[in-house]
Amino acid sequence: MSSPLRSAFLRHVAQTSPEPDGLEISHGEGIYLMDTSGKRYIDCISGIAVSSMGHGHPEIQAAIQVQLNLHLHTMVYGEHIQAPQVALASRLADYLPPPLDCTFFTNSGTEAVEGALKLARKYTSRYEIVACRNAYHGSSAGAESLRSDLEYTAASRPLVPGIRHILFNTLDDLQHITSKTAAVILEPVQGEAGVMLPLPGYLRAVRARCDETGTMLIFDSIQCGMGRTGSLFGFEPEDVIPDILLLAKAFGGGMPLGAFIAAKEIMTVLSQKPILGHLTTFGGHPLSCAAGLAALAVLMRDDLLHRVSDREQQIRSALKDHPAILEIRGRGLMLAIELRHPAQRVSAIQYCRKEGLLVDWFLFNNQSIRLYPPLIITETETTLLCEALTRGLQHII
Ligand code: PMP
Repeated sequence: MSSPLRSAFLRHVAQTSPEPDGLEISHGEGIYLMDTSGKRYIDCISGIAVSSMGHGHPEIQAAIQVQLNLHLHTMVYGEHIQAPQVALASRLADYLPPPLDCTFFTNSGTEAVEGALKLARKYTSRYEIVACRNAYHGSSAGAESLRSDLEYTAASRPLVPGIRHILFNTLDDLQHITSKTAAVILEPVQGEAGVMLPLPGYLRAVRARCDETGTMLIFDSIQCGMGRTGSLFGFEPEDVIPDILLLAKAFGGGMPLGAFIAAKEIMTVLSQKPILGHLTTFGGHPLSCAAGLAALAVLMRDDLLHRVSDREQQIRSALKDHPAILEIRGRGLMLAIELRHPAQRVSAIQYCRKEGLLVDWFLFNNQSIRLYPPLIITETETTLLCEALTRGLQHII
């Protein structure tokens, strides 16, 4: 039976699919989400890699409360000096390798993508952009133009011109990066493609080709960053430094926040010829920055980057012999469970839900389900997760 809340949701809130997930959320606590019937779920979606600190983390709540009592919005981004923004940008500069030391805050990942594309075009005075097939960078006009699937972009044509696609992990395709290319944008670990890791040396080869052609390298770490893969920014294991780094999702500690980060010398072009050429009213909102700072502090203080790898090993060994699973792919707690019977993907997700476990699917991978638990998950909670997943997948053997 439909509740009044569900009816109003279907009537008045715009939907993105004919059959929305429809879980009626009551509240969250740690790794759990509770629905309005009182059922409790282990949240292994984490709002698509957002709720890394779980739900209702006391230190994030306290940081928001302190900032709430000081001030909310004061002035369009980049004019007033606001302590939470400055502190977060400085902390990022401490943790990032040089020359990445200057942050432009945004409201979302998509806006970080848009800002980075504009920055690369302005800095290089070129307009061609190279992006990877099966990448998702957002749904605004510029970000959507980076998509490779014609079915999705058909209704938005004409797209932003000058975009070429290459296949991730394919060295031969790097010849499409030329002295006309302003930037290459790619995810150091591809998310919506179904968690695809770069082959050893691939990102170094991309970096070398960019250096040869004077092209900027943009890493979209929006999904794989902030500890999700067991390193802070998702690109460290490959030993390659981008010219522009993109963050969002977990970056805001559950609040809307994104960023594009580059060397100060590069970022300076945004403040010149013309001045005020790239603006945002709410980007880097003080509440979001306060929450993001608190989330980053907890991540580093509690050594979650190491714990993420321990939890990954625990999940891999608990599930490795499950007859419904063909492969467990990914790094850290950014995992894709590839099913032996992909046609059962939607039922598998529903069976897991009955077992009190929230998992979902990827945009561009029909064979796998997403397993992105909060990074704070304990060993005992991970055992519960594996037991629920084992039971859920038992139905689709
Ligand atoms: N880049 C990547 C890799 C993403 O996963 C997403 C969101 N799924 C985005 C960009 C867009 O971020 P947002 O939804 O915050 O605009």
